[in-house]
Amino acid sequence: MDSRTVALIRTTFKAVAAEDGGSERLSSSFYSILFTDYPAIRDFFPAAMDAQRDRLVHAISYALERLEEPDQLLPFLAQLGRDHRKYGVQPAHYVAVANSLKSAMRQFSGTEMWTDEVDSAWDEALELISNAMISAADKETTPAAWAATVVERREVLRNLAVIRVQLEQPMEYAAGQYISVQVPARPRMWRYLSPANPANTNGEIEFHVRSVLGGWVSPAMVSHTAVGDQWMLGSPLGGLGVPRNTKRKMLMIGCGTGVAPLRAQIMAMAQRRVNPNVHLFVGGHHPCDLYDLQVLSQLAVVNKWLTVTPVTESDENPWWYADSGEPRPELPGLEPRMTGQIGKVVASYGPWSDRDVQIVGSPSMVQTTKFRLMAAGTQAKSIRHDPLF
Ligand SMILES: Cc1cc2nc3c(=O)[nH]c(=O)nc-3n(C[C@H](O)[C@H](O)[C@H](O)COP(=O)(O)OP(=O)(O)OC[C@H]3O[C@@H](n4cnc5c(N)ncnc54)[C@H](O)[C@@H]3O)c2cc1C
Repeated sequence: MDSRTVALIRTTFKAVAAEDGGSERLSSSFYSILFTDYPAIRDFFPAAMDAQRDRLVHAISYALERLEEPDQLLPFLAQLGRDHRKYGVQPAHYVAVANSLKSAMRQFSGTEMWTDEVDSAWDEALELISNAMISAADKETTPAAWAATVVERREVLRNLAVIRVQLEQPMEYAAGQYISVQVPARPRMWRYLSPANPANTNGEIEFHVRSVLGGWVSPAMVSHTAVGDQWMLGSPLGGLGVPRNTKRKMLMIGCGTGVAPLRAQIMAMAQRRVNPNVHLFVGGHHPCDLYDLQVLSQLAVVNKWLTVTPVTESDENPWWYADSGEPRPELPGLEPRMTGQIGKVVASYGPWSDRDVQIVGSPSMVQTTKFRLMAAGTQAKSIRHDPLF
């Protein structure tokens, strides 16, 4: 796609979505056009559309930002296309979505900005996106969705559960990837979760799920999941992972359940003969939030290439956290716990210029940590994280 076409698309999208309240108006209008012009498509979406609306605009801007970087964009679209098979999406649905998005964009751009050239530029971009998704879905031979039975639910904090599922058929995912999940209590409300263990031939996956206050799905996952529940899983997504034979040292930073995909990668690396040094910073607000230290300690003890530093913002546990009062045994293999905001703590070590960096956590944690590292001299191109939606 030539740079003029890309510039036209970006300018119109920015003009519409960057205005105050613009992205909400765009997504509302897009869905009302889509559901009016193609009513059968409504059944693919959940009854409550609020979270869905935000995701659409984030996903479009993520794709538009990468129009000139095909080596990043095309694999992302291919994964998305494979994942969309779980909805039973057909090529005609892509046409419906593209037409509705263009109509919504045209409506808010106004006739002066929406020239014939802009119209063609949008056609070109939407065709590229649809074709990449459709062709990846067509070529895929794995199931459109995996059925999984919950075999264990363990509450490790009052708002965080470790949930283990058994797939009917094993799934090949790379450690560090994430998967969209649908639970029976919230039909059609798919949410992303990151396996905390590498793929295995038994088809066992462990998820760490935090209940987000006011969220539609995560509170149900944490509180209402029972052994025997049937979950559905989409195709694996995401590009985190440590390539085999890499010599670059790694810096991994994970907060809360963000530790899950990092732990999965470390476990996968532990099965290799040679690994680069990895420094993992694992963060939480309070010491009790570091729910997985026992496993990380065991991994650090047996893998000399791994350094684990726990970081918390506070030295105290919250008043509602009741433990036995007994002094906790020191966990071997871990560096002393540091106190402070995780990005600030990690950046205080220097620019980490010899490292590939992965950051996993809430969108605000990822943005702040990235900002802190870049301010300390880490190059943006060395930093990876999942899309923030
Ligand atoms: C790549 C990726 C991997 C993920 N892996 C995991 C995982 O392994 N374990 C896990 O528990 N969650 C994970 N999540 C988050 C998860 O997919 C949901 O977004 C989260 O559980 C909230 O869903 P909800 O339906 O409860 O909230 P929604 O109803 O979707 O949102 C309710 C409100 O909460 C806010 N919100 C949404 N997510 C978060 C968040 N993470 N932190 C703070 N506020 C938020 C929203 O902005 C909104 O205002 C991952 C997300 C992504 C993008």
